[in-house]
Amino acid sequence: MYDAVVVGGGIVGSSVGYHLARAGVETLLVDRRDAGRATTAGAGIVSPGTSSRTADDDWFAFATDAVDYYPELVDRLAAAGVDDTSYGRVGLIAAAIDDDELAPYEEATARIEARRERLPAIGTIDPSVATDRVPALAEPQRAFSVPDAARVNGQVFASALREAGRTHGLETVEGDVTGVRTEGGRGTRSGGELGEARVTGVETADGDRIDADRVVIAGGAWSPAFGEDLGVSIPVEPKRGQIVHLDLLDADTGSWPVLKGFRHHYIVPWPDGRLVAGATREAGSGFDPRVTAGGLREVLEEALRLAPGLVDATVIEHRVGLRPACVDGVPVLGAIPDVEGAYLATGHGATGLTLGPYSGKLVADHVTEETPIPDSVSVARFEDEPR
Ligand SMILES: Cc1cc2nc3c(=O)[nH]c(=O)nc-3n(C[C@H](O)[C@H](O)[C@H](O)COP(=O)(O)OP(=O)(O)OC[C@H]3O[C@@H](n4cnc5c(N)ncnc54)[C@H](O)[C@@H]3O)c2cc1C
Repeated sequence: MYDAVVVGGGIVGSSVGYHLARAGVETLLVDRRDAGRATTAGAGIVSPGTSSRTADDDWFAFATDAVDYYPELVDRLAAAGVDDTSYGRVGLIAAAIDDDELAPYEEATARIEARRERLPAIGTIDPSVATDRVPALAEPQRAFSVPDAARVNGQVFASALREAGRTHGLETVEGDVTGVRTEGGRGTRSGGELGEARVTGVETADGDRIDADRVVIAGGAWSPAFGEDLGVSIPVEPKRGQIVHLDLLDADTGSWPVLKGFRHHYIVPWPDGRLVAGATREAGSGFDPRVTAGGLREVLEEALRLAPGLVDATVIEHRVGLRPACVDGVPVLGAIPDVEGAYLATGHGATGLTLGPYSGKLVADHVTEETPIPDSVSVARFEDEPR
């Protein structure tokens, strides 16, 4: 018997699990480790100021709160003895190289001006400053710098959250949750009467029943599978992203900033020559975590356009992730109506490494103290939708 079961061990579920355990909730995290887990493939850019979202200020406000929370969380993990989180503020350079990028560049700088109050540090830079910092970069026509942008390795951060969670009693297990058990109301698997249902636990593919009063579904793109059990439609679907890891031997890439072009592609540098170039954005991909010829070509072509100096880099790895894309592009967090003890934490789409640790905290606070979830990311915004 647990107080809570968290389904999913990506960055979101790991954060929920950590925060619940830290609050003294006896928690079991069950993770199936699917091929296509988004957290494993994620590039790791943490920079809401350069998001291409337009006039979406609810998302922006949530995202800036989320990035503000990162340093505090990193300190807490360190206090729990977990120092390797991979998080680092390395800055970002956004560079418009070809003519077709000039219009999106102007739109981006206009968005930054409109949000200037929360983005005080972003400023235009001379193109030569950009190429001085990153010799592999093509000569840009225009560039700006985001000094407080950060990078995070999703896999390392999620693992750090689980490790710190274990110091507070979090239990973690590999497994496949096949259903949420409820009693009473419309949430029952056998189709009960309309009314309040209550979570009693989960079932696993091994035939185990795990008793718990609360279940948090943080299953990324796979979360909608629980909609039938819980009597709701979960408006999330997979959006595939393919990404390539390169090795530029002997380059001091640890000191490079993140590089962004204006065709939605980017390069995230890591120490020891590793550079992560991404990514495709494939709506309608379904659950198909394959690396494709077209995907690789797109990513490599864009990486070399942005940074021709990488032409001799070694291709060391490709990864594929299924981003959990919510229908309105914003996470879906909080209590599921009419099913006591059931919660959702998913729908983070292309920005889950930025938002996920904070979302996990909010959902854990919501579970333990009924702290309200901001309206813009709350499950409640779908309450009037047909089930
Ligand atoms: C190529 C790519 C690049 C990206 N780059 C960035 C970036 O630069 N910045 C950024 O902020 N975000 C980025 N993202 C987005 C980010 O990676 C995702 O939004 C985030 O990782 C989603 O985390 P999650 O925990 O919700 O889902 P996931 O990481 O997919 O984890 C879900 C987990 O739940 C498990 N699960 C599902 N169903 C069950 C079940 N029934 N039983 C047990 N376990 C189950 C799965 O096996 C999986 O391990 C990128 C994503 C991709 C694919």
